[in-house]
Amino acid sequence: MTCEELKELLATGGENLFARARAIKSQVFGDEIFFRGLIQFSNHCKQNCLYCGLRSGNKKLQRYRLSKEEILSCCEEGGKRNFKTFVLQSGEDDYYTTEKMTDIIQAIHRQFPNCVITLSIGEKDAKAYQAYYDAGARRFLLRHETINPGHYSKLHSGKRKIETRTECLKQLRKIGFQIGSGIMVGSPYQTMDNIIEDIYFIEKLKPEMIAVGPYLTCKDTPFKNRKNGDLKLTLRLLAIFRLMHPNAFIPATTALAALDPGGREKGALAGTNVIMLNLTPQELCKNYRIYDNMEG
Ligand code: SAH
Ligand code: SF4
Repeated sequence: MTCEELKELLATGGENLFARARAIKSQVFGDEIFFRGLIQFSNHCKQNCLYCGLRSGNKKLQRYRLSKEEILSCCEEGGKRNFKTFVLQSGEDDYYTTEKMTDIIQAIHRQFPNCVITLSIGEKDAKAYQAYYDAGARRFLLRHETINPGHYSKLHSGKRKIETRTECLKQLRKIGFQIGSGIMVGSPYQTMDNIIEDIYFIEKLKPEMIAVGPYLTCKDTPFKNRKNGDLKLTLRLLAIFRLMHPNAFIPATTALAALDPGGREKGALAGTNVIMLNLTPQELCKNYRIYDNMEG
């Protein structure tokens, strides 16, 4: 699609955008929806992303970590509910050394040999990624957030580089992981041109998963006065990704569900085929506050 066509679709939805996205989804996947069990095992983070409530600069957040046993009991709950994929997500928390992490992955892998282990734990070196893979993890979710270097810099106080992120994605793929990437819709300073650049970046990267959700304000961040991302724009972008990537796993994210009570259903009508459900008991993860009004 040309830049103009994409802009038109994002602005108006064009003709039958959602119906076309749904048709492609059902051609490839039938009626199947894939459920993922999300385990938010630590809210400690050494990074300081300006948009995120887990940033190290947020001193108001009560921090927690789950032990291997607690993580395993979340998986057991998922097993009972017949989940076939566990997504382990956290801030960038060096408490979980490569050894600790591989020990956790191996334990899950031993107990649930038929389940896929997905990690979403941020930027690590290639050696650590390889160790996770060898321990049994097979998917890795690392949103690039924005491919535009100027925009990336504005989201991270100029302290981090988009190249680090794309290099991580490259390493992960080289090791053999199925990768997931994506952006927040409506993140501060984002322009329509940025979104178009991201669409083309994803088109080239061809990740197995495309994770796109609205940016949601968090009151304990420097962006506390910014607005939430737009629901319609998010749904249109999801539908565009479905048209361009018929085989991809595209979740209706927890942020989409938090923005709109019918977010998951609206996402499905726009072509998403994955639902992430939280397996972490509320009393353990109540402080996993990436953004405000996080629902369970
Ligand atoms: N620390 C890891 C994984 C946890 S954060 C990482 O950063 O990759 C997971 C995702 O949450 C991030 O990729 C980001 O896109 C999203 N996120 C962070 N703050 C957000 C906000 N305020 N609104 C919506 N999504 C947010
Ligand atoms: Fe940490 Fe991820 Fe939040 Fe950035 S987005 S502060 S890396 S948890």
